[in-house]
Amino acid sequence: NSKPKIVVLGAGYAGMMTTKKLMQQLQPEEADIVLVNKHNYHYQTTWLHEVAAGTINHNQARIMIRDIIDPNRVRLIYDSVVRVNRDDQRVVLENSEIDYDYLVVSLGFETNTFGIKGMDENAFFIQDIDSCQLIREHIEYQFAQYKNSEAKEDHNLTILVGGGGFTGVEFVGELAEKVPQLCKKYDIDPNVPKIINVEASPSILPGFDTDLVAYAKTSLQERGVELREGTKIQACTEEGFIVGEGNELIKAGTVVWTGGVTGNSVLADSGFELTKGKVTVNSDLRAPGEENIFILGDCAWVMNKKEDRPYPPTAQAAMQHATTCANNLKALLHHQPLEQFVFSDKGTVASLGVTDAMGTIFEGTKLYGKPAAAMKKVVDNRYLFLLGGLNLFLKKGKVRPF
Ligand code: FAD
Ligand code: NAD
Repeated sequence: NSKPKIVVLGAGYAGMMTTKKLMQQLQPEEADIVLVNKHNYHYQTTWLHEVAAGTINHNQARIMIRDIIDPNRVRLIYDSVVRVNRDDQRVVLENSEIDYDYLVVSLGFETNTFGIKGMDENAFFIQDIDSCQLIREHIEYQFAQYKNSEAKEDHNLTILVGGGGFTGVEFVGELAEKVPQLCKKYDIDPNVPKIINVEASPSILPGFDTDLVAYAKTSLQERGVELREGTKIQACTEEGFIVGEGNELIKAGTVVWTGGVTGNSVLADSGFELTKGKVTVNSDLRAPGEENIFILGDCAWVMNKKEDRPYPPTAQAAMQHATTCANNLKALLHHQPLEQFVFSDKGTVASLGVTDAMGTIFEGTKLYGKPAAAMKKVVDNRYLFLLGGLNLFLKKGKVRPF
């Protein structure tokens, strides 16, 4: 078999969309395509805060890969990538090895604890479907346990969230919806549970539009979320976070860290040159010095040359990387010039719960409340359309009335 082999690692936004586009743009005789992923399903990383809070079922956020990618056209391997050996163009998987002519590394993010003492051992992470199911189950267990115990310790019903970036804020927004439901289910006084978000910067969502941040704060606080801004987490213990200069202990029954992300550790284990855990790619999205390796999504730093800093890691960007990568793989096969990646910013909309959201769209138009919540659902559903057409939208789309 003399066909070139394209191997895509990771079936997140970047990997799924790249594979889908390759399927559409290349004839079967032009290349063999292989997609490697840890699980047999793709998941909506952008919905993980809802899975963790239990406001959506985890199955709504999961899509079987073979429902989208034709296994007769693309070889699907469900296994974990251990490392890439660039010298002999091979990928080591947990259970086998595979060689490649062209490689796409789209293995996504890993939670970054910045070496904060005790965080890895004692906090939950919003990382993938399994870790989020664990959070949901743990929270519910705390409520059931509280109801059943004689000596009630109120702090066991505190949910402590470290980091007030978009993930932390979206998560506490969902919790503000879920906790009252759990109080009803377990017949618990709704004044006992607490939801606390701890952010080191003077404000949550540092750097985001100040009007929208003010809106988010009011919305969250009115629904009972306590915001501890300007409060740095120093350590995490079995009991909770130790914060601030005075080493105050905030006790909680559930502790979740949403304080930052970095590139998948497979990059480091494969010897790529890294800046803060990611590869700074060339403008055609190839790794520096590599003719045949593309790095996409949350594994890549793509420079915003105007502002001289990398674009933030988002699903929006990951999907756009996929388009450029698929075009460039086709160009390589046809010995044509490669295109440069240009990011098209469609805005940022963040949910604050089921019926509230805020954000910017169309180059700065600000949205709040129900119109923003509707827009967030449009964004979520648009992706389902792009990936799997009307069928997927009807199966997994967000059509809940509000
Ligand atoms: P991922 O989506 O992380 O996918 C990586 C894939 O690789 C996964 O399928 C994983 O299982 C697989 N994988 C990982 N390691 C291995 C391995 N060793 N072997 C095999 N497979 C492996 N961005 C937005 O634009 N809009 C939003 O509204 C938004 N909301 C978000 C909400 C939350 C709660 C979070 C956490 C993030 C949000 N983001 C949002 C950011 C966005 O989700 C990421 O930027 C995006 O998921 C990156 O896509 P990716 O394809 O690089 O990786
Ligand atoms: P982040 O890095 O954006 O935010 C982490 C937050 O934790 C920061 O505000 C930081 O100041 C804080 N922090 C770090 N160390 C701390 C400490 N020791 N004590 C207290 N606070 C600390 O991470 P994220 O929120 O997970 O977001 C990751 C990426 O995903 C971003 O690019 C974000 O834009 C994207 N995202 C987008 C959306 C959306 O568009 N709706 C939603 C979620 C995530």
